[in-house]
Amino acid sequence: MKRAIFPGSFDPFTIGHYSIVQRGLHIFDEIIIGIGHNQSKKTLFSAEKRLQIIQDAFADAPRVKVQIYNSLTIDFAKEVDAAFILRGLRTVADFEYERTIGDTNRIISGVETVILFTEAAYAHISSTVARELMSYGKDISAFLPPNVKI
Ligand code: ADP
Repeated sequence: MKRAIFPGSFDPFTIGHYSIVQRGLHIFDEIIIGIGHNQSKKTLFSAEKRLQIIQDAFADAPRVKVQIYNSLTIDFAKEVDAAFILRGLRTVADFEYERTIGDTNRIISGVETVILFTEAAYAHISSTVARELMSYGKDISAFLPPNVKI
């Protein structure tokens, strides 16, 4: 069984994240979406709300599971017996960040990171921009996966 975790803040989970998971299902038998929860890091959506949004998005996808975690990502991967970390890449800035973390994780734990390039249509979608738009009362439904309402 090829199992990957897809870790992130998902504040909120966007259609960009959704697309990475859908494509990841062609590679992995099971994907566990890990909602990183750090008490000291302020988020717009509570961990429980983020969990509910993601569960709604994948209600019809039995090979996708969702969990909240507050440990180091590689420890979470070991805990759920996943040999892979799935991540998405939009920009050169993402690349530098992902390479540093991916190399570190592999060297200290042997867990490999698998990166998928974003679909062009979703390259501009980010949780940060979604939060910014929401703070001005704008509708962000175009940023969200199908079947998700906030
Ligand atoms: P983190 O705080 O760990 O970066 P995010 O929730 O911002 O968590 O993102 C989780 C993963 O999803 C990261 O690999 C990020 O690069 C990727 N990602 C975010 N937005 C998109 C998008 N629009 N298209 C593809 N991948 C994305």
